[in-house]
Amino acid sequence: MRALVKDRAGPGLRLCEVPTPTPAAGEVLVRVLRAGVCGTDLHIYRWDAWAARTVRLPLVPGHEFVGEVVATAAGTGGLLAGQTVSAEGHLVCGDCRNCRAAAPHLCPRTRGLGILRDGVFADYAVLPATAIWQHRPGVDLDTAALFDPFGNAVHAAHTFPLRDKVVAITGAGPVGLMTIPVARHFGARAVVVVEPSPHRRRLAECQGATITCPDSADLAGALRDLGRCDGFDVGMEMSGHPMALTELLAHMSHGGRVVVLGLPDRPVPTDWADISLRMLTVQGVSGRRIFDTWHQVTALLDAGIRPAAVITHHFPADDYATAFEVATSTMAGKVMLVWSTEPRTGGRT
Ligand SMILES: [Zn+2]
Ligand SMILES: [Zn+2]
Repeated sequence: MRALVKDRAGPGLRLCEVPTPTPAAGEVLVRVLRAGVCGTDLHIYRWDAWAARTVRLPLVPGHEFVGEVVATAAGTGGLLAGQTVSAEGHLVCGDCRNCRAAAPHLCPRTRGLGILRDGVFADYAVLPATAIWQHRPGVDLDTAALFDPFGNAVHAAHTFPLRDKVVAITGAGPVGLMTIPVARHFGARAVVVVEPSPHRRRLAECQGATITCPDSADLAGALRDLGRCDGFDVGMEMSGHPMALTELLAHMSHGGRVVVLGLPDRPVPTDWADISLRMLTVQGVSGRRIFDTWHQVTALLDAGIRPAAVITHHFPADDYATAFEVATSTMAGKVMLVWSTEPRTGGRT
């Protein structure tokens, strides 16, 4: 089968012919149909400091996908060949205090699919049955491939009550973009989006942003336009840019609540006296609640939210180099690699 392999410490990936993996007990073999390029994959592609200290080589990256079950081993429950599936990319231990207390999203032994275990940038992938999410028959393939990053957006937007709140989102990458309609659906009065790329600001406006601005220093102007000079009720940092977090904190109202999902590549100095005196709440959010968020995603799709609107490009898997180049640029929303154009054998019943 074809697989995109990271086999040396340095930039790039290689499309190789490798043996198709065999599922062990408790695992399923999935034919990958489409797979999204995530910021995590770009870190691995570029081979930055985070990737160099985290990833063990060789590795097949990729974790956002939709595929079709083609084989199951023993101990895989009711999973059957032909089912259309994705997988929770945070593979948890199932045995620690948090896993056993029904909070597996807080598992300290979480292993990332496509980071510490071979992922889905391949014609086939082997996945633990416990991580599989089974889609409803006939699900739209682009939407299904977005359950993982859309789940990030939904988990972040679900962290604090948003009804009638004035919300700021810093960063309009795919997750930031997908958060906008969810925040509106949850009742946010206004959603202000900070994003330097004009192309992504246009996408944010299409997603329902009330005001977009190119720089986090413009947040004060946005507040003035909204008649809310005291600050934002809820902030969501989704860019990973250190200055964005600092500016966002500075523009929160007293008692404001901040979700931190973006990952700065270096420590960000924080004025903790200011956090204390203004009584701010800061909540880190990573991944999704397993599998509560996946059910919420389904409910939001039924409510008419269309996350696939953030997909701007599809590339055949063979054209991966262009796909990664485009995903790195600020012109793209979500970039999708198409691994198979053959129709599904099941799923449309
Ligand atoms: Zn991802
Ligand atoms: Zn655990």
